[in-house]
Order: sequence, then C-alpha cells, then structure tokens
Amino acid sequence: MITIALSKGRIFEETLPLLAAAGITPAEDPEKSRKLIIGTNRDDVRLIIVRATDVPTYVEHGAADLGVAGKDVLLEHGGDGLYQPLDLDIAKCRLMVAVREGYDYDAAVKQGARLKIATKYVKQARDHFAAKGVHVDLIKLYGSMELAPLVGLADAIVDLVSTGGTLKANKLVAVEHIRDISSRLVLNQAALKLKRDRLQPMLDAFESVIGK
Ligand code: ATP
Ligand code: MG
Repeated sequence: MITIALSKGRIFEETLPLLAAAGITPAEDPEKSRKLIIGTNRDDVRLIIVRATDVPTYVEHGAADLGVAGKDVLLEHGGDGLYQPLDLDIAKCRLMVAVREGYDYDAAVKQGARLKIATKYVKQARDHFAAKGVHVDLIKLYGSMELAPLVGLADAIVDLVSTGGTLKANKLVAVEHIRDISSRLVLNQAALKLKRDRLQPMLDAFESVIGK
C-alpha cells in the first residue's frame, strides 16, 4: 500500500491534477466526506487527510509514504528525515510582514523600537528579524493573525498573503516580503528505497505536469 498525506482545501484541490497524471483518482471528496482515509481507483494507493501542519510528521514517521506540504510548514517543521525532491508550484503565496494602516513600520524599525510580532511562523519570523537586526517579542498564534494588530496584541504580523484581500478587509498593509511560498512533495526516505518501483513512476508523472 502507498499512503499519500494531503490537507483539505487548496492543497487537495491543486494536487488533484498531479494525482490524475499518475493515474490516481480519489474515491471521495474530503470536503464532503468525514472520512480521514480515502481510497482511490488504485487498490494499492490511499489518501489520508490531515492538518497542513501535520503532513511532515506523518511522512517523517512513515505513517504516510509521501505527502504535499507548504514551504511555510516545512520551514517551521525543520524537514528532518524528509526527502523533498519536487517543488510542485501549487498553493503559491508570499510570507509577508503586515501592519495596521497608518502604522509607520519603517520609522519604528529605524528608531530601533522593540516590535511585538504575532505569527504562526515563529521560526521564520525570528530568523527574518534577526537578519535585519530588529529586536522582537514573538507572540505565537494559531490563526486569524490579522486581528492581532487591530486590538493591540502586536505591532505587526508575519503571515501568508496571496491576493491581499484579507489584509485589505482588515485595514492592514504588507510592508515586507520575506519569501515566496509554494508546496513541495515530501517523501519518507525509507519508503523511497523500499517502494521505489511504484513511487518513481508517480514522481515522474508529477514532474511531467509541473510547469505546464
Ligand atoms: P487551517 O486553515 O485549517 O487553519 P492551514 O491554514 O494550515 O489550516 P490552509 O489555509 O489550507 O491550511 O493552507 C495550507 C497551505 O496552503 C499553507 O501551508 C500554505 O503553504 C498554503 N497557503 C496558505 N494560505 C494561502 C493562500 N492565501 N494562497 C495560497 N496558498 C496558501
Ligand atoms: Mg488557513
């Protein structure tokens, strides 16, 4: 059996064409089904539906042979024990620093102010501000980061931005680009050795779709 770990939502949706190229069709839509293990048209392939942040953990421990995870998630996780051969070029967005409209971020940085930063991406935020020589207090959040500057929890947030619609709706503006984000294929290293005959054609099929 080959087990593929995916998260619901954009990653699942954007992985479908890649699976199709490998001749894999899920038997059910995870948005409609409550099942966490979803069969496919292939007897030897199943999908497991996990939180986006948990994909690396399932693959690292071999509970899934492969999975799809955002670069944001992989950088926070550390990627230990994972083989990351392919950038799938899906679920694209940017990791950015954003502040309340009217907040003078550049002035605060120039003055050497100690900034309060709310984020789910603590590691990446720490590295970013350390590289800039800006002192920060990091506040770990698990979602709805946009709220933090509006209620005085933080001066700025580090969050993913795609269209900017959510920032705009909350009167926030992006002030710094940290990195471009897309999702990568991750594989368990032992699985790649033991199941190479079945995994390699899948990787080749995924690769054939990327960039088309
Ligand atoms: P949840 O929304 O259930 O709390 P999550 O935020 O981790 O979980 P998603 O919002 O589905 O899950 O994001 C999954 C992945 O998709 C992220 O890790 C990131 O790589 C990417 N992503 C997140 N937000 C966007 C976006 N606005 N546009 C494109 N890709 C995004
Ligand atoms: Mg989300």
